[in-house]
Amino acid sequence: MQAVYIEAHGGPEVLTYGERPEPQALAGEVKIRVKATALNRLDLYTRDGGRGLEREFPPPLILGGDCAGEIMECGDGVAVLKPGDRVVVNPRLSCLQCAPCLAGQDDQCRRSRFLGSAIDGSYAEYIAIPAANAHPLADGVTFEQAAAVPTTYLPVWNMLVRRLQLKPWQTVLVLSASAGVGTAAIQMAKDVIGARVIATTSSPEKAAKAAALGADVVINYKDEDIRERVREITGGAGVDCVVDHVGADFFAAAFSSLRTGGRYGICGATTGLRTELHLGQLFSQQKEIYGVFMGTKEDMREIVEMLNRGVVKPSVDRTFPLAEAAAAHQAMEETSFFGKLILTQE
Ligand SMILES: [Zn+2]
Repeated sequence: MQAVYIEAHGGPEVLTYGERPEPQALAGEVKIRVKATALNRLDLYTRDGGRGLEREFPPPLILGGDCAGEIMECGDGVAVLKPGDRVVVNPRLSCLQCAPCLAGQDDQCRRSRFLGSAIDGSYAEYIAIPAANAHPLADGVTFEQAAAVPTTYLPVWNMLVRRLQLKPWQTVLVLSASAGVGTAAIQMAKDVIGARVIATTSSPEKAAKAAALGADVVINYKDEDIRERVREITGGAGVDCVVDHVGADFFAAAFSSLRTGGRYGICGATTGLRTELHLGQLFSQQKEIYGVFMGTKEDMREIVEMLNRGVVKPSVDRTFPLAEAAAAHQAMEETSFFGKLILTQE
């Protein structure tokens, strides 16, 4: 089959479009013809080998996690799904046997593997995965929309609903509105929870798009001080919750924008992994910080239910043919996009 893989770490130029062996559906697995794959930062980190993701070659690695497509074949023991079903894939494979998995906390699985990072992924014509990681799509949902969902909506849903418990009468600060997680957080906070949303971004064009998605107030952090603006907007109180997926560059401003007793959720650190924490603010203002990585299989089921009903409407910036994966990686590195970048196949 045709796939995009790497045989060494490096820039977008190490992405090779070529022939790789076609996977087969083992017992309990489904083989999917991939129609759309969404890019995530993880793809870039896996490609360049930074952030603890350095690996030995050979064998080559096919990149790609989030994807959607059509089931071609079911392995022995697959009960619910059947060939022809249109599905979206949860790229985090959990063991379903360790203590957290048995407790329904499979987001904390001790043996989890990520498609396209630990094992071959979805920049390919076909992929074979456990049936429990494939979720059926309604007819009206496109493969591009569905592929845009897992790695952005899973941490956002887990964070906003289960960890931060954002309520309709509260205010949330969403950092970097233009990235996949930012767009998902604005939409979930507004359309599903009904909270007031303050978003940050870097240009008037992106600010207009964030407002169109549902942000009540947008702060352009190139011109305005985040903490001061949040104080003005909230009458000096600060926000109830923060959704952070960018890390180091904005942590101090965002953490000090939280009200006393506020909750801070972080599910990514694209601007840097290390920062300083003001312990005085943490304890004297009784703030809470939650680290979030993806979500549970039940979170995914709930999100796909909302996707199928049209409640979740993922933002797709643009699509590229699979063979042009390197151009898509380039676009992601330049951060000149709003929403998800998608690789498509006929
Ligand atoms: Zn497990």
